[in-house]
Amino acid sequence: MVSQILFIAITLAAVALFSYNLKKVIRNIRLGRAVDRSDQPQKRLMTMLKVAFGQTKMFFRPLPAFLHFIVYAGFVIINLEVLEIMIDGIFGTHRIFGGLGIFYDVLIGSFEFLAIGVWIACVIFLIRRNILKLKRFSGVEMTSWPRSDANYILITEILLMTAFLTMNAADAKLQAIGAGHYTTAGSFPVSQFLQSILPDSESGLIAIERGCWWFHIIGIFAFLNYLPYSKHFHIIFAFPNTYFSNLEPKGEFTNMQSVTNEVKAMLDPSFTPPDAEPGRFGAKDVNDLNWVNLMNAYTCTECGRCTSVCPANITGKLLSPRKIMMDTRDRMEEVGRNLDKAAKNKEEANITGFDDGKSLIDTYITREEIWACTSCNACTQACPINIDPLSIITELRRYAVMEESQSPASISTMLGNIENNGAPWKYSPADRFNWAKES
Ligand code: SF4
Ligand code: SF4
Repeated sequence: MVSQILFIAITLAAVALFSYNLKKVIRNIRLGRAVDRSDQPQKRLMTMLKVAFGQTKMFFRPLPAFLHFIVYAGFVIINLEVLEIMIDGIFGTHRIFGGLGIFYDVLIGSFEFLAIGVWIACVIFLIRRNILKLKRFSGVEMTSWPRSDANYILITEILLMTAFLTMNAADAKLQAIGAGHYTTAGSFPVSQFLQSILPDSESGLIAIERGCWWFHIIGIFAFLNYLPYSKHFHIIFAFPNTYFSNLEPKGEFTNMQSVTNEVKAMLDPSFTPPDAEPGRFGAKDVNDLNWVNLMNAYTCTECGRCTSVCPANITGKLLSPRKIMMDTRDRMEEVGRNLDKAAKNKEEANITGFDDGKSLIDTYITREEIWACTSCNACTQACPINIDPLSIITELRRYAVMEESQSPASISTMLGNIENNGAPWKYSPADRFNWAKES
């Protein structure tokens, strides 16, 4: 009875803490501007099923895709077993689904194969990151925390899978010696090889089985509450992120409604602009971006596929699209903390959370970075979960040009030429066909 009460208390605390942190993340995402992504629901659903659920874009790199798929399948399928753990924990039963007979045996057997698959995949991932030191996992933005974050999760998954298999091995031995409460259920094709290293005494086996059971479920709760602080939030956000992703052809720029309204008002005196506050042109800070941009930032897995194909980054420029996403997330988190502090101190004046003298552009992302982008869309094409770093870069550039009249000299000259000559070159329109004249 004590263990049931303890289990229920831990479960409620874990769920409450996660809900509290999730609410804050959603609050931060809602700081973004409105954008309508309610169109084409069927196409959106198909995109989500293909890209997030089916992981189709991952398979451009088959080896990591295969390993990632095992971890992903393991995560989804083995956690069905969590349902049994939950029911057993609440009602004090043991292997409640054991009555399903052969179906249960097949289920536990396949969980064990998946568990060992996840274990091996995580070890390979650790080797790729820490021993082979693949270039994709390095970069100025990959400071000690992002590197540790990836390692922590891989090590946790290895420990969880080890606990799961050890628990099963001890359970199978307890079933074999007819220990009370341990009903005969399940098949153990992988964990049977661990049985020889376990003790033979009933009390020793019960201690190991219970210890692993508690470690497994507390580990899952800890993992759940670690997600909001980690790039592994993508296991939740990948689904809404792909559903709400941009379905327009790549390279098609978004129209700025505020500019359209201004032009219409100039050309048509009868046009009345909508009352809505136009805000600033482009984005200076995270609240000038739209909410999908902000959700993108929380979803980024920091995999670096975007940066590895970015021509600016490849040719040694400062720009890294992964850093753009990580900076956006960091700034959003900072604004969120400002909001929490303001709410705590009831500081009405600072209630927006942005009055800290910082901004996304300049404090986090430099002008050199945004102007290094060629707008090629290679990053959006490469991203396995349809994140769009280019749209953030574009908004920051729009702010620099339209609010501050600042742009690199080469671009200012080109804009001036377009304005004066109707073309990016320095020639008068009258001289445009000089090249075709006989010399
Ligand atoms: S669109 Fe910009 S950031 Fe993205 S890959 Fe091309 S140059 Fe790099
Ligand atoms: S934006 Fe996409 S491709 Fe780039 S690091 Fe994030 S998840 Fe990976």
